[in-house]
Parts: sequence; C-alpha cells; structure tokens
Amino acid sequence: MPPHSDTESARRLRELADVAIQGNLTEVLVRCGKPTCACAQDPSRRHGPSLYFKYRDSEGRSKTLYIPRQYEAEVREAVAAWAELWKAMLERSQINREALAQRVRKKGE
Ligand SMILES: [Zn+2]
Repeated sequence: MPPHSDTESARRLRELADVAIQGNLTEVLVRCGKPTCACAQDPSRRHGPSLYFKYRDSEGRSKTLYIPRQYEAEVREAVAAWAELWKAMLERSQINREALAQRVRKKGE
C-alpha cells in the first residue's frame, strides 16, 4: 500500500478536523488596571506576557480569549492542525479543479 492511501489520508484529515481551531495565539504585555501599580505609568513594567487567542466569530467579529499557560500546548496544536487541514483542503481543491477542467475541456471538443 502507498504511504498515503485514501483511507490513511481520510483518517488524518478527520484527526485534524477533530482538534483544529482557526485563529492566532499572541503574547501580550498587559496593564493590570490598578492606578497605583508601576504598570500604569511605565510600559516596561507591564505584566506578562499573557497569552491571548484571537479569532473571528461566525459573524466575522474579532474576538479575544485569554488562554491560561496550561492550555498553551493544546491551543498551539489546534492552530497547527487548522493550518495543516487548510493546506490539505487547498491541495484537494486543486486536484478537484483540474479534474473539472479536464471534463469541461473534453465536453467543449
Ligand atoms: Zn500592574
């Protein structure tokens, strides 16, 4: 069997789809909001960096989700899975488009 049989590739896509999340993980230095804290005046005394996940909701609005450090690995994995899934779907789209183009050209002859 070839290393990437249809079944194997379908299984991989499903694994990715099960965990994939679209968005970006960013590290941000934050002000805590206490007026007496050093971070209020001095940008170099801001806290963090803290992790935030930025994404768009189903209506296209930008959203931010605070991510505690213990979830960092999981979120990074989810973002990587999304990227791999997207790449795989683009490849599939190209194959499907070429197949369509062939059928359309044949019909035109
Ligand atoms: Zn502070």
